[in-house]
Amino acid sequence: MGSKRRTIGVDLGGTGISFIDMFSPDEVNVRYRIDTPKTRDEIVAALIGTLRGLMEKRDLPKPAGIGVAVAGQVGEKSIVFSPNLPFKTEYPLGEELERALDLPVTIENDANSAAIGERIFGAAQGMDDFIVLTLGTGIGSGIFANGKLLRGHTGAGGEAGHIPLLPGGPLCGCGQKGCLEALASGTAIANAYREKTGKIATAKEVCGLAAQGDAAAQEVLRTAGEWLGAGLVALINLFNPQAVFFTGSLSKAPDIYFEPALKKARESSFGTSGKDVVIEVSKLADAIGVIGAASLPLL
Ligand SMILES: [Zn+2]
Repeated sequence: MGSKRRTIGVDLGGTGISFIDMFSPDEVNVRYRIDTPKTRDEIVAALIGTLRGLMEKRDLPKPAGIGVAVAGQVGEKSIVFSPNLPFKTEYPLGEELERALDLPVTIENDANSAAIGERIFGAAQGMDDFIVLTLGTGIGSGIFANGKLLRGHTGAGGEAGHIPLLPGGPLCGCGQKGCLEALASGTAIANAYREKTGKIATAKEVCGLAAQGDAAAQEVLRTAGEWLGAGLVALINLFNPQAVFFTGSLSKAPDIYFEPALKKARESSFGTSGKDVVIEVSKLADAIGVIGAASLPLL
């Protein structure tokens, strides 16, 4: 597949907003990042200002469209709710941007957007059944089944991070206990390390400590990896994917996190579905946020 049409991607995150203006991941016109302003109106103004600047400066064909990836629930051309952004009630961001910029705008959940990016520009090209798991502070997922992005009845489908794995387990950000996210995410790793050692460390620091031989850090990562494996088994049994791709900051975690996950996925999945499924870190992992967003106008 691939494409040579110019598109603009915006990854709207709680701490930063990333922009990309590109023809493909190998042919990028410009990448740009700003800190996320505090209020909704400031965010909208910053988006319009930055996007206008991107479009005016370039002696390039008119973009096919703008894609915006948002952590949270989205509607058609709107953000319905985002826990980490000042969008607590539905806001028609897509319509606002279209009015201001005279280009088609697509709004998509960030995990779904990553899956779309993987299918248009990454290793999932030509695949009809695959899953992108975003392993970071939380765990998100984008699921393609039978060639279609799984959205569910109200658009909230494919929330693999909230598969309940351990009744009575650690409290999850969603309010339930024992979700995959509460057991295997970066937040889960930092919490488990603090409980085990009394020391405060980020997931990234725990990964560094494990690589240096810290036994407690290694055990925390191994246990989190086993839970990730249980989550993979659930997904493989339900969707029989051809591949699972990891993105997000934890996709850089040491092998001690991934080895038990892969072992569990290979050995415990139903029938033969775990044997030949490709499970690997996405080659686009570092930029899938903006690349996924930039792929949205091409879907
Ligand atoms: Zn949850």
